[in-house]
Amino acid sequence: METALFKDRLEQAGLVCGSHPQSELPGDACGLDCFSKLPPIGKQEIRSRFPEGVLTRDTQDSRTYRSTSGTSGERLTVVTNFPKREAGRASALHVLEVATGRSLGASITDIPPNVCNSVCGLEGPPETSVLRHIRGGLKNGSWRSEKFRSDLNGLFERRLMFKQDILAPLDARSISDLSKQMAETWDLLDTGRPYLLRAFPQYLLWLSEYKAQRTVGSHYLKYVMPYGGLACDSLLSRVRSALGVETRNMYGTSELGSIAVSCDNHRAMHIIESFFEVEIFRDGKTVPDGQIGEVVITDLTNTAMPLIRYRVGDIGRILGGSCACGRDTKRLEILGRVQETLVRSSRWVTASEIGDIAYSDRGVNNFRLDQISTNHFELQIVPSFFGLSPDVDSIRSRMEDLLSEGGGSPTKITFRILPFIQPEPNGKYLTCRLRPSSWVR
Ligand SMILES: [Zn+2]
Repeated sequence: METALFKDRLEQAGLVCGSHPQSELPGDACGLDCFSKLPPIGKQEIRSRFPEGVLTRDTQDSRTYRSTSGTSGERLTVVTNFPKREAGRASALHVLEVATGRSLGASITDIPPNVCNSVCGLEGPPETSVLRHIRGGLKNGSWRSEKFRSDLNGLFERRLMFKQDILAPLDARSISDLSKQMAETWDLLDTGRPYLLRAFPQYLLWLSEYKAQRTVGSHYLKYVMPYGGLACDSLLSRVRSALGVETRNMYGTSELGSIAVSCDNHRAMHIIESFFEVEIFRDGKTVPDGQIGEVVITDLTNTAMPLIRYRVGDIGRILGGSCACGRDTKRLEILGRVQETLVRSSRWVTASEIGDIAYSDRGVNNFRLDQISTNHFELQIVPSFFGLSPDVDSIRSRMEDLLSEGGGSPTKITFRILPFIQPEPNGKYLTCRLRPSSWVR
């Protein structure tokens, strides 16, 4: 009720009425029935009311502002307070604990698609050393402030609790140069000897197959984790067999932090239910567990800038029932982004289904499916850097089956074999570039 945006939305949903005076939140009397009437909200609406309409009263809770860059180029500035950042650190530790059984002392190497996203992301202040930070705080008197302590926490975590290295992104624009970059990256990994490697999915694929061509694995590396929860099963199974490692899946966004993590090689991830309420929507309503829809998340810790029923822009489903590991949280599967999901005969075709077909062929190192017209697609394929040729006819027929409209005019897929695919401006690759008229609504 402190933010104009949510006050308006509560009123529009009929949730602020005679029994709920304007100054009060809808209370327990309403319960979840009341909450369930609040429609989800998108990035665009939040951005259009930023900052006055979306921030709560500043109670000196040590707020920081941070901009995120979405794949679609939609930027969102998120304001976090001290408790939110502490919750973010706790969930980052929890993710490591569930994924690898270790949270402290594990050495981690990250290869993000865009270095700034993770170095300047939710994880903490700009890099410096712990000692330099303490010296600076004593010198300028800021050591008493909450921000100083919060930043010290973050630095302590990255520099002393974990040995975290961040390596430069790979640039795949020329194969000879990429081989050189991969050799350099492996030299750095062999020196740092990380226990866990986190990277952009395509980087994991290229690096693992490059390594498998040359040596027998890397004994120090036990776990590999793709960013974003979007890597498809066939890509991850290639990484596992090339490197002899286990893969773990995690899901998080820069505006929300770590949301879910897998306990084994599967795609489904345990939701951190103390910090997030995750729901799946289709046609404006929540769907039963197991059904595919749009992922909608409520952040239970950020009271500086509430995100209530926030549409993160991903497609997924929730799996109920207990997991073999004994944890009884709901599990989340992320299947692609909204802009990469298309409706064919009222069926939703997700990026992960498309990716599974393409990457199950070991001759494919990268690809993108572009929609030319309703039933005409062009599949751009970057063939394996290691001499294997893709079986184009088999991929074509499986994709045409997946994308067929059933009864309508047949789906046609043309091919282009390319030496590289240009990443999006934020360094990531899209699985599909669809016409907006084909997206799910
Ligand atoms: Zn489990």
